[in-house]
Amino acid sequence: PPTLQLSGVQRTYREGEGRLDVLTGADLEIAAGELVALVAPSGAGKSTLLHIAGLLERPDEGEVYINGTACGSLRDADRTRIRRLDIGFVYQFHHLLPEFTAVENLVLPQMICGLSRAEAATRAEQLLAYMRLKDRGDHRPAELSGGERQRVAIARAVVNAPRLVLADEPTGNLDPRTSAHVFDALAALVRATGLAALIATHNLELAGRMDRRITLQEGRVVEI
Ligand code: ADP
Ligand code: ADP
Repeated sequence: PPTLQLSGVQRTYREGEGRLDVLTGADLEIAAGELVALVAPSGAGKSTLLHIAGLLERPDEGEVYINGTACGSLRDADRTRIRRLDIGFVYQFHHLLPEFTAVENLVLPQMICGLSRAEAATRAEQLLAYMRLKDRGDHRPAELSGGERQRVAIARAVVNAPRLVLADEPTGNLDPRTSAHVFDALAALVRATGLAALIATHNLELAGRMDRRITLQEGRVVEI
């Protein structure tokens, strides 16, 4: 099965009398190893799509399949388990824990998933080295550059070996050169691990380097 499949996903926000049909029947399949760009104007529904794909929100209609598992009828606890084990998130702002070092930021999510501190630290250090952050492990987020923080955030997103990475403007607050470096690190990880990745971006240069580009038109997914 595809790593991620959306089928007929609809989402309407209601406020008082008003209604906003953000997703009106979105269909999407992403296979293992595919890096897909989501390029659409602000307000088109990119974040809503990512939240639904990441099991953070439920669609009003339609189904989300992760590795072939239909997630709509699952209890919240089962959705949380799939989210923790199979899905990694990267945001525009790093969301690292400010009081903890880069290594500790990677150790904690692994311990939540049951690894010992020693196992988690070994994996954290390997992953930081892979991201060319070997000598940054003991730094807190405030002591890292913007590009380094985002590379730590990417490392954290994949530290539990998920099958799918969802990223919302992961380079949105970086200059073009740093954006390219951060993107290269993410792309290398996807290539090396066979992850599937869906990356919302306004950066057309980066979108052009991904395997496929999709947009949202009137609440539906359209291939560009
Ligand atoms: P994008 O990420 O493409 O900018 P969003 O998915 O964030 O788009 O939002 C799509 C539309 O839905 C926007 O008009 C936004 O204001 C609206 N919206 C998003 N979340 C909510 C919410 N929780 N309640 C009401 N409206 C929302
Ligand atoms: P960039 O041009 O990539 O944004 P910066 O100029 O922010 O980089 O930082 C350059 C180097 O200095 C980085 O390697 C970073 O680790 C280090 N650095 C930045 N801010 C601090 C800080 N507050 N304390 C310690 N080291 C820092």
